[in-house]
Amino acid sequence: MKTGGMTAWIAACTTTTALSAGAVWLAHRHMPAESPSLGVVLAAAAGGGAALAAVVLGALGRRSYRRACEMFEGDSRPEELTPERAGWLAPVAEAARHAILRWSGKHEESSARLREAEIRLSIAEAERSHAESILDSLRDAVIVTDQFNDVMLANASAERLLGVGDAGAEHKPLDQVVPDETLRQMIKDVTRGGVTARQKRVEHTMPAEPSGPAGAAFDVTIACLPEIRNAPGGVVTILRDVTREKEIAQMKSDFVSQASHELRTPLASINAYVEMLIDGEAATDEARKEFYTIIKGEVDRVSRMIDNMLNISKIEAGIVSVERSEVDFAKVIREVVETMQPQARAKRIMLIEKVGPLIYTAESDRDMMYQVVMNLVSNAIKYTPEDGRVTVSVENDDATRSVLVAVQDTGLGIPPEARARLFEKFFRVENYKRFAKGTGLGLNLVRQIVETVHRGKIDVDSEVGMGSRFWFTVPYEFQGGQA
Ligand code: ADP
Repeated sequence: MKTGGMTAWIAACTTTTALSAGAVWLAHRHMPAESPSLGVVLAAAAGGGAALAAVVLGALGRRSYRRACEMFEGDSRPEELTPERAGWLAPVAEAARHAILRWSGKHEESSARLREAEIRLSIAEAERSHAESILDSLRDAVIVTDQFNDVMLANASAERLLGVGDAGAEHKPLDQVVPDETLRQMIKDVTRGGVTARQKRVEHTMPAEPSGPAGAAFDVTIACLPEIRNAPGGVVTILRDVTREKEIAQMKSDFVSQASHELRTPLASINAYVEMLIDGEAATDEARKEFYTIIKGEVDRVSRMIDNMLNISKIEAGIVSVERSEVDFAKVIREVVETMQPQARAKRIMLIEKVGPLIYTAESDRDMMYQVVMNLVSNAIKYTPEDGRVTVSVENDDATRSVLVAVQDTGLGIPPEARARLFEKFFRVENYKRFAKGTGLGLNLVRQIVETVHRGKIDVDSEVGMGSRFWFTVPYEFQGGQA
């Protein structure tokens, strides 16, 4: 007999024995004192009944145990009970079988539900991490706050902007995370207004980084998110950095106003001389020739200025076309020196080329390189008094893998305070204006060609009264961004 059967057997025996014992106790209690024999009879009857009950119940316990074993052994699903097999236990077994079937059906159903919930959860997690990666890849800073002004979400750009570091911004109060008072107030205003609040779009200037300099401009959009199950959906704030765009817009407007101002000067001069000619103020042929020469000079200046402006704006807009070739800088220098020799001679300036025996080539745009060397040599002659010296040299700078060209003069030199602004558009050293005419665009164009187009470097070493040494490098291999 198995353990279960034994338990049933013991339980049956215990029950019947208890019943018998009760019967014996009753018999003994009601035993008349005067009739001990009746008590004995009753006690005997009770004991016998108890023993019989124990035997019968014990037998029944054994049978039911066997049935139960037959029913449930092996397969977890109960077999069909035949009336012969079930006997008097049939109703109980049938009820148990139904209960088990119902339970196992429910179990299967809830397992399927659990599996489905697990799949839904993993899909939701994948979708969430996908959405987070999309948000993190945005250049705009995105901050989502709840109705209590706690940060629910901040993408990577926002965390960078707010400087929250590895700790992140999520689940922190807005006041702790956003250092800019005005921005905080704008977000809180929209939160207070709830869904009825209109979307807010403002331009706001604040530090690009909490510790950084003030002045970065942001296009800020603040909007209320729709409610989720009657609960406020929160507020989303998007910050788009428009600093560069504003700078470009400012540069453009500065350029236009400066250009029109600079063009007005030669045009006014042309106008004045033409009027004098019309009014017959140039009485002699010689005077008229002088006027024509001045007009021609001013017209040349205007056209040079226009050419320079167009070239600069093309480079700035990234639409300049670069004709790449292996440029021999020794040859370029020789050509420039030959061309400029008459001008140098007119001022008794010694124009010398200092070129070694090596090959000095770099992959670059030949015409642009010619223009750079020409501009620097022309300036050197312009700003060097008579009897001076201008030397053009070239060398290979293997450390930076670049060709290095230098134009050295014994001229006026550059005042230290002008050095920083020398390559800006339209900048001219005030005191040198009477010394030579110019556009103030030459050095800017030269820097654009060297640094923007060819990824080289241009600079100047100078001492007032001693002269200047303008130098530039061009990498051996073309690295420019515009081709
Ligand atoms: P510009 O047409 O006036 O020469 P640039 O852009 O070429 O315009 O030069 C800007 C200013 O830099 C000049 O006006 C001049 O004041 C100064 N400069 C340029 N080259 C020299 C030089 N070699 N020596 C002294 N000053 C120079």
